[in-house]
Amino acid sequence: MTIQKKLTAVTAASVLAMSSLLAAVPALAASDAPAKGQGNGNGWGKGGNPKNAQEVSLQILGTSDLHTNFVNYDYYQDKISNALGLAKTGVLIEQAREENSNTLLFDNGDLIQGTPFGGYKVTQDPLGEDELHPAYAALESLDFDASTLGNHEFNFGLDYLDNALEEARFPVLNANVYDAETGENRYNPYTIIDKKVVDSKGRKHTIQVGVIGVVAPQIMKWDRANLDGKVVAEDAVESVEKFLPEVEKAGADVVVVLSHSGMGDETHEVGEEDITYQLTEVEGVDAIITGHNHDLFPGSYSELANVDQENGLINGTPVVMPGKFGSHLGVIDLTLVKKGNEWDISNEKAELRAIDSTTDEVAEQVVEAVKETHEGTIEYVRSPVGETTAPINSYFSLVKDDPSIQIVNNAQSWYVDQKRKNTANEDLPLLSAAAPFKAGGRNGGDYYTNIATGQIAIKNVADLYVFDNTVFALKLTGADLKEWLEMSAGQFLQVNTAATGEQQLINPEFRTYNFDVIDGVTYEIDITQPAKYDADGNTVNETASRIKNLSYQGTAVAADQEFLVVTNNYRASGNFPGVRNATETIDYAYENRQVIQDYMEEVGTIDPSADNNWSFTQITGDPNLVFETSAAAQNLIPADSGISYLEAAANGFAKYGLAIK
Ligand code: MN
Ligand code: MG
Repeated sequence: MTIQKKLTAVTAASVLAMSSLLAAVPALAASDAPAKGQGNGNGWGKGGNPKNAQEVSLQILGTSDLHTNFVNYDYYQDKISNALGLAKTGVLIEQAREENSNTLLFDNGDLIQGTPFGGYKVTQDPLGEDELHPAYAALESLDFDASTLGNHEFNFGLDYLDNALEEARFPVLNANVYDAETGENRYNPYTIIDKKVVDSKGRKHTIQVGVIGVVAPQIMKWDRANLDGKVVAEDAVESVEKFLPEVEKAGADVVVVLSHSGMGDETHEVGEEDITYQLTEVEGVDAIITGHNHDLFPGSYSELANVDQENGLINGTPVVMPGKFGSHLGVIDLTLVKKGNEWDISNEKAELRAIDSTTDEVAEQVVEAVKETHEGTIEYVRSPVGETTAPINSYFSLVKDDPSIQIVNNAQSWYVDQKRKNTANEDLPLLSAAAPFKAGGRNGGDYYTNIATGQIAIKNVADLYVFDNTVFALKLTGADLKEWLEMSAGQFLQVNTAATGEQQLINPEFRTYNFDVIDGVTYEIDITQPAKYDADGNTVNETASRIKNLSYQGTAVAADQEFLVVTNNYRASGNFPGVRNATETIDYAYENRQVIQDYMEEVGTIDPSADNNWSFTQITGDPNLVFETSAAAQNLIPADSGISYLEAAANGFAKYGLAIK
């Protein structure tokens, strides 16, 4: 029998709570009496029932947003990463099970999509009729008790998901997606698990654990093409409230909600995406595993009311949000005390445990369960998906329109243009914003995108888009568009045309990922003017204007003209001038990186030439402008760019000159 470490220290508070509960219980079944001679050791006095106390430490473990990260491998970088993967989380799961034999393990969804592994099982090695999907095989290898559907489970269509679920050997739950015709639940809304447990005195019990799963109803928007007319998604809180009485009637002693919704806030709008906070206020919900935001709880969300970070409670309910890609294991500890025929929760607590990224240690059974798909995926990311007719590098992305940005812009426009069909925004001028992510800076002179002419592979996508952002589109006016660009133009220091000495062009305080190039319009940046905004978006020169000749299809952009601009979650949720005035924010819940991969596969041959939609405004005089980029760029200076190599500099950089003509 496993000794339960946690129970060796019973807190005074829980003893008090248990004593008062037990006092109300007139009799306990004789069969529940402990073995003779077993001391209670808990400080209870003689004469009462306490030595018969039946206390169970139930541990609920949870993962969320694995996004096909099972092996500790980064398919984009094509190398081992010990910062992700269920095989790493599995080590923590096994440790937890050694500490406490009364564990349940749940996954909160966003399981089958997210890296080339997911796509590989759709397009390259399609899931067979009777084949167990490797994602479910991975969960089974660790004996998961149940899981729920995340929004990304719907990305490949209902038939694909049905095929994957057919072979899953544990319940996969969802309570708020209904068949559009019959109105019946499309999936099992809940399950009741008869969990065999051992109490603090070694006696066996069965505890009934009800589990309900819900997803953000925004799947109807994000996967409209797959779902429209086939299913409807209802409000997630209302669906939990609807099934709770049934779950309780079925005998659930404890109710766990798997909430594939974000945390949200104190106010509930029916049908909203992020409702976990509301679930903490629902009477009868005892524990919540959430996710979707890819955030950490305990940890984040201190700004919300009634958050107890130390014990992982929100409104008194234990909650875990275990990061993403297997980075953390959520651990919820419930102390259950038997009261008559019921089990009461006398103590509750939630915490996160981070995987150990400093070792190669993994739960081998996970690696084994997905071996074939894992190896196939590696082959797939290395194989060419297309060709580029010219080198793609970011060496000069801060001084001229650049192929590494152009491709991201093109892919984003291509994606949203399909997604917006038959929506109110389908005729708006479509623009696309992208910034240099790999552009030297603090990461040194080697930290640039550099893809040679010729075959291009999926793993090159990582070079084009290093962050795991998701696609957003913003509806805003021409006036706001100009302010957005004014902000981006803070990338440059002001040029003094009369000065004769060397002048640095690039503002080192300004992060290159904030230098958004907005494609679909043409404009100039006049660096003889001061920047209007500082690097934090504060107005520093109210009347300054660097953006000149801003035009759409050859006509000057009007202040009240409306645009749809594709960008990422980071920018959309940020505080950029212009961006903050957006009248509509559309969340596509799909990775920018995946969009680039899809685009590459779609077009095959990539022409990476930039369209030069932006340039510097002509400068009078002949200032001596210099900037740094990689020393490796000296042989790749574009013709007629006004760029010249000057001399080597520290950290793999070199100094270059720029003549603006
Ligand atoms: Mn997710
Ligand atoms: Mg361009």
